[in-house]
Amino acid sequence: MAERQYIQVILPLRLGWEPFYALPNGISVQVGDRIKVLFARKPYLAVVSRTDTQPSIDNRKVFTIQSVESDLPRVSEEEIAFWHQVADYYLCSIGEVYKLAYPAARAEEMKATANQARQDRLEDRIARLEAELAKAEASKRTWESTRERLRANLQQLREERDGQTAGPEGAPETVHDNIVLSPAQQRAYEGILKAGKKPVLLHGVTGSGKTEIYLKLAARTLSEGKSVLYLVPEIALSRQLESRVGMVFPGVQVYHSGESSARRRDIAARCRRGAPDIVLGTRSALFLPHRNLGLIIVDEEHDTSYKQTEPAPRYHARETAVMLAVQYGARTVLGSATPSLESAYNCMGGRFIRIDLSERYFHGNDAEVEVIDTVDERRKRGMIGHFSRKLIAHIQKALEAGKQVFILRSRRSYAPLLQCHECGEMPACPQCSVKLSWHQDTGRMVCHYCGYSEPYTGHCPKCGGELVSLGAGTQKIEEEARELFPEARVARLDSDTAQQAGYTRDILGRFGKGEVDILVGTQIITKGFDFERLALVAVIGADTLLGQPDFRSDEKAFQLLEQFRGRCGRRGEKGLFVIQTAQSGHPVYRNLSNLTGTESMLPERKNFGYPPFTRLICILLKDSNLQRLAYLAEELARLLADTLGTEVRISGPYAPAVDKIAGQHFRHIRLTMAKDKRLGQHKRLLAETLAAFEKERSWTGHIAIDVDPV
Ligand code: ADP
Ligand code: ZN
Repeated sequence: MAERQYIQVILPLRLGWEPFYALPNGISVQVGDRIKVLFARKPYLAVVSRTDTQPSIDNRKVFTIQSVESDLPRVSEEEIAFWHQVADYYLCSIGEVYKLAYPAARAEEMKATANQARQDRLEDRIARLEAELAKAEASKRTWESTRERLRANLQQLREERDGQTAGPEGAPETVHDNIVLSPAQQRAYEGILKAGKKPVLLHGVTGSGKTEIYLKLAARTLSEGKSVLYLVPEIALSRQLESRVGMVFPGVQVYHSGESSARRRDIAARCRRGAPDIVLGTRSALFLPHRNLGLIIVDEEHDTSYKQTEPAPRYHARETAVMLAVQYGARTVLGSATPSLESAYNCMGGRFIRIDLSERYFHGNDAEVEVIDTVDERRKRGMIGHFSRKLIAHIQKALEAGKQVFILRSRRSYAPLLQCHECGEMPACPQCSVKLSWHQDTGRMVCHYCGYSEPYTGHCPKCGGELVSLGAGTQKIEEEARELFPEARVARLDSDTAQQAGYTRDILGRFGKGEVDILVGTQIITKGFDFERLALVAVIGADTLLGQPDFRSDEKAFQLLEQFRGRCGRRGEKGLFVIQTAQSGHPVYRNLSNLTGTESMLPERKNFGYPPFTRLICILLKDSNLQRLAYLAEELARLLADTLGTEVRISGPYAPAVDKIAGQHFRHIRLTMAKDKRLGQHKRLLAETLAAFEKERSWTGHIAIDVDPV
């Protein structure tokens, strides 16, 4: 009798190891094959990760696999290697990454996969016909730009003659885009090509035409026979881009969680076939079964929607895109008008190449910024409710000129914020440089980072003035606007109104058609905010932005304000961007419209030992039993301090801003590690310590790890 063959598999579970199974006689499998197994008596679809191995446990305890699912596509070695890298970096199990990449791996969904192969073939034919149809329609539109197109083709041919785009043998038909870059765009494009495999940060002001550069790069990549992954932070943005990208590439595949599972399977099948394709998607598109990837674009790279917070892997698309690109030797382009401090830091350290695009495509329409000091105005009796007289005059003028106004009221924070009525000061933690939150029940002001607290006296620690709680909502502002401008058509858009299906789209549609004069809203609408008649954007209570209990508060405020500044007054007409604040001297405002605005925030991060100068890891603890949670959290923090030593800074456990949801209480422990040779070792030790603690205390499922929290 032949000797039994053993394999190891990846299960879609949070397991710290890869279980062993035996193969039935005469059956052989390869790494990447999908098989059905029983684990703890439940059926799962697993991926073979090793063949010809010997179990480290008693052979008699090893189960035999149930079946080989030869209908299902094999997982490639690149995919598995990528999963390993993600699991190592984000301190999760490879099974959790597998589950993200193959959501149908759950046993209940196995039935659905039986017909999948047949289904895939049909979907495939439909998709191809759809693409052809779209191509036919697009070519109709393309006639209108024949001149540009011919010019572009000519340029492309000249490039080819000069040997710059020597496509490989048997490359698919060359993609003829009709994009003509401006000289500034052309320089940026060439800079990106020159950077080779090194990630590029394309820092381009709003309206500089980064999209055109992406599309040009995409065309080149496709004509080299390779695929393109174009990431956007949110679904809403992918919808807008779809039509723009579709003009150049009618075959663009849009991938996000809102698509049907049949559609997503179809895109996965296309990826697997490896024909050059362009996928436009949200972060989960990173985990498609890519083959032959040549370019990854991460648009709006600073956007925090790129971070997955729940469940594991709690990955960031920017960092993960760089890992994926390494796997395929692909180029990575990270684009933003307001780069993250992480990327700015990586450029300084030489890990990324930075390319600036400081010119707008349509010139001379940069918005003017006016900061209105509300403390000053109040003293001069220049405030009517939440509106300063100066702002009222600006709005009046815009309305008289038949223009539109957008009033931004920053989203409120979870915990109430305090600000001095006299000087604008917001009490902050002396250790963390994070704003304190007011806890009315205990009468204290609390730091949600380290637990520091001090009594609430009602007086400003700096000038003795009266501390007041910040927070009129959009509804109040809307009411005041109606009273102040009775002739104007006023509408509101915030998370309350967004609950009503279709409302957001409807309001934005009406605003676009000019049926609304004044729109009051929160930042739910930053993305793709592009209205011809919008002449004035005003921020009321900008202080809330600066007062978030978060060390990234200033960075996020800067990014939001700069994005909005870039959106007023498009195409030739100068817009006005008004900020009402009680802290008019704050550096965030000074740095608006300054190309190095982002970098100017780095020194403070360095001083306080925050990322990107260090690596932050947050341990998330939850339990329905508050006593047990508090006790075990304290014990874990002590254990971590003992195990990791003094090189790792440990703060907490502390109650996060939202410390109870649906009967579950939360505690956080924050670890700060130096970015040096010991980092990997510290991370591994941390993961081991947590696993052992969980097991010893029978506290499984209560601890989660968040690497690089945002
Ligand atoms: P960004 O994404 O950098 O904010 P956009 O890509 O939205 O800028 O470009 C701003 C505007 O300029 C858009 O309307 C775009 O169509 C136009 N534009 C930019 N570059 C070009 C180009 N090379 N040819 C034609 N139009 C362009
Ligand atoms: Zn603190």
